[in-house]
Formats: sequence, C-alpha cells, structure tokens
Amino acid sequence: MILEQFTTFSASGYSIEHLHLFRDIDDVGDLIADCAVMRVAQGQAIAEASSRGGRLYIVLRGALDVQAMHGAHADGIITRVLPGECVGELSVLDEGTSPSAIVAVQEADLLVIEADRLWHLIDASNGVARNLLRLMSFRVRAANAQLRKRQKVGEFYRQLSMRDGLTGLHNRAWLDENLAMLIDDAHSLHKPLAIVMIDLDHFKKFNDTHGHLGGDAALKAAALVLESTIRPTDFAARYGGEEMTVILPGSSQAEALLAAQRLCERLREAVVFADMRLPLPHVTASMGVAGLQPGQDAASLIAAADAALYRAKESGRNRAIAATTAATTAV
Ligand code: GH3
Ligand code: MG
Ligand code: MG
Repeated sequence: MILEQFTTFSASGYSIEHLHLFRDIDDVGDLIADCAVMRVAQGQAIAEASSRGGRLYIVLRGALDVQAMHGAHADGIITRVLPGECVGELSVLDEGTSPSAIVAVQEADLLVIEADRLWHLIDASNGVARNLLRLMSFRVRAANAQLRKRQKVGEFYRQLSMRDGLTGLHNRAWLDENLAMLIDDAHSLHKPLAIVMIDLDHFKKFNDTHGHLGGDAALKAAALVLESTIRPTDFAARYGGEEMTVILPGSSQAEALLAAQRLCERLREAVVFADMRLPLPHVTASMGVAGLQPGQDAASLIAAADAALYRAKESGRNRAIAATTAATTAV
C-alpha cells in the first residue's frame, strides 16, 4: 500500500527537538520544513513509494516494528522503532534494499526524508552527519549482538544434532567427525589412544522376549553404564543399532582392555527394569579393543577393534578381547 502524505513537517505541529537525528542541532529546521508527514494505520506495512534511492522514516508518534522476512513471511521482530527514532537510513546510504518489513504497531505519524534530502542534510550540517554516525555505530553494535546470539543458538542446535535421541550418547555423525580429529591429535602429540567397539549380545532375542520398548530401555541402561563408568576424558558414542564405541584418548590398548573388562562387569550387573517382579533381565556385551598404531587412520582402527569384537563373540560373548598386533599394524 502506498502511503498518502498527511501534511508537511512545518504544518504538522511536531517539534524537531526530540528527533534523535537532529539532536543538539538547531540549524536544519528550514531544510526539513516541507518534508512529508504520513499517517499510517495500526498494522499497516510501509511500502516504498519512491523508486529512486531509499527513504528515512522518523517516528513522530506511535511505533514501528522492523520484521525480518523469510520469503514472503515475517520471521520475528528485529527491532521496535519508537518516537524520535528512525529507520531506513541504511537503504539511503547504500541504496540497497533490506529483507525486512516495516509495520506500524499502532497508528503512527512518520516524517519522511527522501534520499536526496538526507544527502543534502549531511552536506549542510556536521551535526546531522555526526548523529547519523552515532546511529550507525549503534546499529552495528546491535547487529553484532544479534549475530552472536544467532551463533549461540546455531551451536546449540549443532550440538543437539550430534546426540543420539534414544540414549543421549554422541551419535555416529559426531563419531565420524571427532574420532578422526582425536586420532590426528594423538599422532601429532605422540600420545596413545584406544577404542572399544561394543556390541550387545543376543539383542535380537532380548527384543523378542521383552518387546522393542524393552529393547530400547536396555539400550538406555547400557548407555548409562557407559557414561557412568568411563573417565570424563573418554567419549561414548552410539555407533548404530545395538553397537557402541568408546574412545579413550591417552590410554594404551592394555589400559583400554582393563576399562572394557570393567564395562563388561558393570553391564552384566545393570538392571534394565527395576520394577519387575520376574527375575531381572540383564544385558551383556562383547567388546573389541584396539590401540592406535603409528600412522593408523580411523577406518583401520575401527576395523582392528571390530576384528577383536568378532573374536569376543566367537569365544563365547560377554567379554572383552584386545586386538592382536598383526590385526592392528598400520598399512
Ligand atoms: P549378537 O550377540 O551376535 O550380536 O546377536 P544380536 O541378536 O545382538 O545381533 P543381531 O545383529 O542379529 O541383532 C541386533 C538387534 O538389535 C536387532 C535389532 O532389532 C536390534 N536393535 C538395533 N537397534 C535397536 C533399537 O534402537 N532399539 C531396539 N529395541 N532394538 C534395536
Ligand atoms: Mg550388532
Ligand atoms: Mg548384538
């Protein structure tokens, strides 16, 4: 909707005194006397009535909301513009358009300063130029603060996307990203690192006996055992299905084997359904342990731990077995 001129500034009866752009300036009254004052109704959007350059709107009465736009839809309020404040100066200065909409929160009177007029004011009055600079630095600060907030929110969701929904452990995406990084660190710092590949035993049967919800409860119980047994510097991730991985930075294969044996014991004792009257079902797991070899990458380390896990299954399950040197030697 194109806005209609309501009156001129000199005839409107408004005073220049409280307008931030003209703060501490008394020599520009004549330069804006014939500028248009427009009246906008509550909820009305302010459309560009002029095709050349932009326009500056100074709120004389009422209030405007600057809304971020996502396509044709408003996507949150960026800022509220109150009497004395202005909006649109950026579109004048850079002649660009902004992906935001300006809407009257309540009936408002606006002083409209066309681009040509604003440039003339800047040329004619150091005070206007100074006030505009002050305004711009305020805008930059506000934009930076908003950017920081968005980054924080973005990081929060990124972290969330790196967690497994059922168990709360790190997920496969996290593992893929971080195992490689931890291995690089270990190589460059000449520190040991080991992993444990864990596979719950006869889990298909557990599901068949206790239902899939029961199986889910067992997975959660197993995750809890991992989280509460490993050291704060170790990491537990859900590799997929009923398979989990523990990364132990700084630990040798022998140390990791001891940790895995402790995990086996705790899992064996873990109670899945505390309120059952029947004999309590427990979960057991088989584990393969591998220590990082010189030059070894993530895929090769996982393959070594997997081979040890296979042997743990073969030799009776419910146990941890370490990789043989041959299986873990780097290619
Ligand atoms: P093994 O001792 O040889 O590992 O036998 P298994 O039965 O554990 O192995 P198998 O690979 O045959 O079966 C894995 C089972 O894990 C089958 C699958 O339904 C179950 N499973 C995988 N993910 C989930 C899950 O998120 N929830 C539940 N309830 N079950 C799952
Ligand atoms: Mg499996
Ligand atoms: Mg299994």
